[in-house]
Amino acid sequence: MNQPLVVLGATGSIGVQALEVAQHLEIAVDVMAARHPSDHLAELARMRPDTTVVVAGGSSGDRSRFAEGIPNQVEFGSDAVEAAARIEDRTVVNGIVGAAGLKATVAALESGNRVALANKESLVAGGPVVRSALARGGGELIPVDSEHSAIFQCLLGEPRASVRRIVLTASGGPFRGRRAEDLADVTPEDALAHPTWDMGHRITIDSATLFNKGLEVVEAHFLFDLDFDLIDVVVHPQSIVHSAVEFVDGSLKAHVGHPDMRVPIQYALTFPHRAASTADEFSFVGRELTFEEPDRETFSALDIAFDAGRRGGSAPAVMNAADEIAVEAFLQGRIGFLGITEVVQRTLDQVEHRDLTEVAEVIEVDAEARGVASALVSGMC
Ligand code: MG
Repeated sequence: MNQPLVVLGATGSIGVQALEVAQHLEIAVDVMAARHPSDHLAELARMRPDTTVVVAGGSSGDRSRFAEGIPNQVEFGSDAVEAAARIEDRTVVNGIVGAAGLKATVAALESGNRVALANKESLVAGGPVVRSALARGGGELIPVDSEHSAIFQCLLGEPRASVRRIVLTASGGPFRGRRAEDLADVTPEDALAHPTWDMGHRITIDSATLFNKGLEVVEAHFLFDLDFDLIDVVVHPQSIVHSAVEFVDGSLKAHVGHPDMRVPIQYALTFPHRAASTADEFSFVGRELTFEEPDRETFSALDIAFDAGRRGGSAPAVMNAADEIAVEAFLQGRIGFLGITEVVQRTLDQVEHRDLTEVAEVIEVDAEARGVASALVSGMC
């Protein structure tokens, strides 16, 4: 019943959990791909000798050592990643980090495949391009991001005209309640201590700035074809309500559960069906759920993202690229925490705005924004 999987970003947080879900549901994994020929990838490969392994990067020496160490068929290069996404009748789990995931999303959708999308940057940077690939190829885009999986499920069977608004929940990250002056000296270690979700590095830093929520607002706009005025954000520190939809009749549907990414990953693979999972039964008893307004002044990333989303065209792509550079610079100790938002805003101010209709144009804008952001980082060090 479930199609074989192509797992992109196999060694990342989403990829590893997707492989676990596949094992639990006994779904075949046809291909797994990662950027680096790492020991971790070799270990995953040896557990699945029939799975083809694709490695996007690595030196020729590292590549041949890697291939010799595992029994699997191995292919190299980013073209091989795209080719894997194009294999027909597959479900492609896109767990690639960053704008690098766009080509694979487009390739998979053009082949009519289902994309279980964890790479929100595909939609943030290339929303119009992804939407046209979806229309052209007849594939399916099923969100893996917990908030979007929640909204996707709340919207099932509901006409779009009946939606009053959607409400994305945000944990608020590790710095919720702090003011800007408290954040000048926080370290990468402080920012990496996410209170409720266990995730990769970039998304964890993005959760601390609220850029992650900003990217998710843009993602929701493109996924559900909703105007930005219909998208709200509320801080919900317990991460139990994964998001909600309010309808015109005053009814609300919220998606509630443990913060466990394997649940939305599994749903993206089995949709429209549900399969038994290993998740513990959820208890409402004794839980206190709280909700508050986001502090938009301290965490200005949220409004930067709303503005970029409303502006459309290249603005969300520029924002995403600048954020990728700024987060990396922060993790390397080159800029402070508040510098992340500053780099993104200044990059948006500097890169000329344009429309994006082709993957090549998205890649060009992405590269230009990275150059501008890198120069800003150098100037700040
Ligand atoms: Mg999320």
